[in-house]
Amino acid sequence: MDNDVVLYTKNLKKVYNADSLNAVTALHDINIEVHKGDFLGVMGPSGSGKSTFINMISTMDYPTDGHVYIQGKSVMKMSANEIGRFRYENLGFIFQSFNLLDTHTIYENIALPLTLAKVDPKTIEDRVVTIAKQLNIDMLLNKVPLECSGGQRQRTAIARALINNPGIIVADEPTGALDSENSEELMILFEKLNRENGTTIVMVTHDSYVASFTSRLIFIRDGAISTEISRTGMDQDEYFQKIVAISSAGRSRRKRA
Ligand code: ADP
Ligand code: MG
Repeated sequence: MDNDVVLYTKNLKKVYNADSLNAVTALHDINIEVHKGDFLGVMGPSGSGKSTFINMISTMDYPTDGHVYIQGKSVMKMSANEIGRFRYENLGFIFQSFNLLDTHTIYENIALPLTLAKVDPKTIEDRVVTIAKQLNIDMLLNKVPLECSGGQRQRTAIARALINNPGIIVADEPTGALDSENSEELMILFEKLNRENGTTIVMVTHDSYVASFTSRLIFIRDGAISTEISRTGMDQDEYFQKIVAISSAGRSRRKRA
C-alpha cells in the first residue's frame, strides 16, 4: 500500500434495516483507494448509494460488512475518541442538508468547530472573517440562518467545514443550493485548496460541469462502482464532454429498461 493513501475501502457493504423485511442494500463490494491530494468526484443516479458511500468514508455511519480504513486503521476498530479526534483534526464535512444551528448567528455557526476546540477568540474572529469574505457572506455574520437564502446557508456550511483547514474535505452535493456563478466560485476555491494546500477532496455531485473540476471520478450505479475515469491528459472541456457522455449513456439505458 502506498504511503499516500488517506483512506481506502475493502468490500464495503451497507444494508439499511438489515434485520427487517424492508432491508435495502445501498452499497455492495465497494473497493477504492483515495490518495493524498486526490480531488475525487462521485456521480450516479438518485438512490444509487452516493450519500451512503460518503457517510461511510467520513465516519458518519458504519458499514454492515467490509471495511473503511482511515490512516491505516479500520473505522470499526477505532474508539469513539479516536473517531472524534480524526473528525476534528482532519475532516471538513459538508452535508447535503447544511445542518446549521438555527438559534445561532452565521458567525457562531462558522466558528463552531473552533469554539468547541477552545481556540482563542481573536484567532477565531480572524479566521471567521477571512473565510466569510472568501465565500461572500461576510455581510451576514450577525444574521441567523432563517434570515438567509438557501445559497447563503450553503456557503455558511461550507465556511464551517473549511475553518479548521482540514486535510480532507468530504462534500455531499455542495453546490446543490447554489446558482451557477456561486457553484463555479466554490469549485475554483476547492481547486485552489486542492492544488495549493494539497487538500484531499471527495465530492458528490450530479452536475457534469461541477464534476469537471475533479481529477478523478467514479460513477455509482445500484450500489456499486460502474465506471471510473481520470482527467489525466485531458483539458477541462474534454473531461467535461466525457462526463456528459457517460452520464447521458446511463440515462438512456435507464429509459430503455
Ligand atoms: P444517493 O445519495 O445516491 O441518492 P443514498 O445513499 O441516499 O443514495 O441511498 C441509497 C439507497 O439506500 C436508496 O435506496 C435509499 O432509499 C436507501 N437509504 C438511504 N438512507 C437510508 C436509511 N437511513 N434507511 C433506509 N434506507 C436508506
Ligand atoms: Mg444523496
